[in-house]
Amino acid sequence: MSSIIQLLPDHVANQIAAGEVVQRPASVVKELMENAVDAKADDIKLIIKDAGKTLVQVIDNGQGMNPEDAKLCFARHATSKIRHAEDLFSLHTKGFRGEALASIAAIAHVEMKTCQPHQDLGTHLVIEGSKFVSQEVAVLPQGTSFAIKNLFFNIPARRNFLKSDTVEFRHILDEFQRVAMAHPNIHFTMYHNGGEMFNLPASNLRQRIVNIFGGRTNEKLVPISESTEIVTFEGFVGKPEFAKKNKGEQFFFVNDRFIKSGYLHHAVMAAYEGLLKEGCQPSYFIYLNVPPHTIDINIHPTKTEIKFDDEHALYAILRASVKHSLGQFSVAPVLDFERDDSLDTPYDYKDRDAVVPVIEVDGGFNPFGMPSEKRSAGSAAGNSSFASAGNYHRKTEHASWESLYVGLKSDFETISEPEEIQFESGEEVTASLFDESDIQAQENRMYQLHRKYIVNPIKSGMVIIDQQRAHQRVLYEQFLTNMTVRQASSQQLLFPLNLYFSTLELSLIRELQLSLENTGFVFSEIHHDHIVVSGLPINVAESEASIVMEQLLSDLQDGLPGMSFSQNDSIAKSMAKSVAVKTGTFLAEREQENLVNGLFACKEPDVSPFGKPTFITLRVEDIDKKFAL
Ligand code: ADP
Ligand code: MG
Repeated sequence: MSSIIQLLPDHVANQIAAGEVVQRPASVVKELMENAVDAKADDIKLIIKDAGKTLVQVIDNGQGMNPEDAKLCFARHATSKIRHAEDLFSLHTKGFRGEALASIAAIAHVEMKTCQPHQDLGTHLVIEGSKFVSQEVAVLPQGTSFAIKNLFFNIPARRNFLKSDTVEFRHILDEFQRVAMAHPNIHFTMYHNGGEMFNLPASNLRQRIVNIFGGRTNEKLVPISESTEIVTFEGFVGKPEFAKKNKGEQFFFVNDRFIKSGYLHHAVMAAYEGLLKEGCQPSYFIYLNVPPHTIDINIHPTKTEIKFDDEHALYAILRASVKHSLGQFSVAPVLDFERDDSLDTPYDYKDRDAVVPVIEVDGGFNPFGMPSEKRSAGSAAGNSSFASAGNYHRKTEHASWESLYVGLKSDFETISEPEEIQFESGEEVTASLFDESDIQAQENRMYQLHRKYIVNPIKSGMVIIDQQRAHQRVLYEQFLTNMTVRQASSQQLLFPLNLYFSTLELSLIRELQLSLENTGFVFSEIHHDHIVVSGLPINVAESEASIVMEQLLSDLQDGLPGMSFSQNDSIAKSMAKSVAVKTGTFLAEREQENLVNGLFACKEPDVSPFGKPTFITLRVEDIDKKFAL
């Protein structure tokens, strides 16, 4: 029988290897940028078209290649970076496998121009699907330019597997930022579809971070640094009060290489213990340096995990150092988690237009001519606001505030506490005791349970409504309707707000601008690191604007469960989620009523936008059954 085993031809082997190295345009960006860094360039340009699907080009001013190397670099296992297996333990370069270019050339159209320093002529080479098309001598500037066109042109299945331009572009931005952050001494620029996205001049670490993440980042950073035998590190951690719900800006670099480490993340989080609001994540930018032989980097090229020799010690040092820095910058005492929510706009009032206060002046008022009983009655009313407790507190406070402006008699009428009126006049007590409609109203009165549920008696029993989910449903339908009919009302801000975002977030805002404006946002300007908001949806309080926007951007990037149905739907869901009244919020009677009426006016009142039940019904028979046991 003839033998059946054959060696695969190189181009097939390369295509298979490409499947591992190149998963998407962002992988090409990473490999080419890392090669440019390894070539000791101090100026690197990244040019992208159509989220990398049409073009990824990296131009550097590094050491270039001679004509032989220019051809050889596309061979598999062709690398200038290691010679012996031992070299793996003293790596100071990003690449070492010699696989990237061979893999990329197997699945794309590649054009390379390269010229070494002090050479008049360089090499211009074209290779398509592992086949050399041409190699010419050309006059070129020092450095290397790789243009990768039509990625996956010969593997349609892979090409179809690529995500939307937004998603692919986000991956590219991630890779670009990681390389740019690891090398602040290199000038990086990035263009997408002809527009400049980043221009990061060579600078120090802090400036690089600020240039990438926006001007406001500077005030949020606390420096950290430590030098021990097993590790030295420097970088920044975010002040706890700036922690966000999404965990966007968390970076570890080990020997100038971006890595992910759940273990080290845990060490940092442990240092923040007790300083963060629930569910919030701090940002951090931590650069560790360890002797190359104490880490195992020889792992899969696309993976970012690495293995440390002395993990436990690293954990302890990192935790202690972050804790120390946070303490030293005395960020802890200024925290204020105990917000007094009586200062917030009550939920029910958010929908209403502002009313211009009217000041009534009693021209004939004479403080010296006031009868003495009235004066004492006034002070009694004033005292009652202190004496009354719980739910009446606000009402009476409000009333006594009004008493400054209106006559004392009418003030007494505005205090609608039944108890007080009852003692005022015996007749009224008897009348209200026997008034049928009053009794019915009392019976059907809804009330709030545990600041979480609204209990509403109905004919057959009672309905128990989850206030948070119900409000989410009401807002969701409102936002969605507004976006569909494009007639959202918005509240104009007297003083426009400046909200700061990263480049990535701003590119998303530009993309969503129309949809967001249909919810009621008015963006008067969009700059490179901030937006100017001059109007807000009527349901969004000014103090909440930045939180709502941040949450929205992170939801759209990370995808909430149940999202992605359509962009409008996702926006409505995210906004409903962040604006809705939360469990734990006290609702006045009017607010409860409005919410319940709003819910039952919805198209789909029985589920929240995230598919959870909004209310349950308990029939009297159900209750009877419980007592029958
Ligand atoms: P690796 O980076 O693992 O060595 P690559 O396939 O990425 O493998 O690159 C192969 C070789 O091509 C590199 O070792 C390097 O010598 C050369 N090379 C690649 N890109 C550049 C560049 N931008 N400038 C100079 N040389 C380069
Ligand atoms: Mg490489």
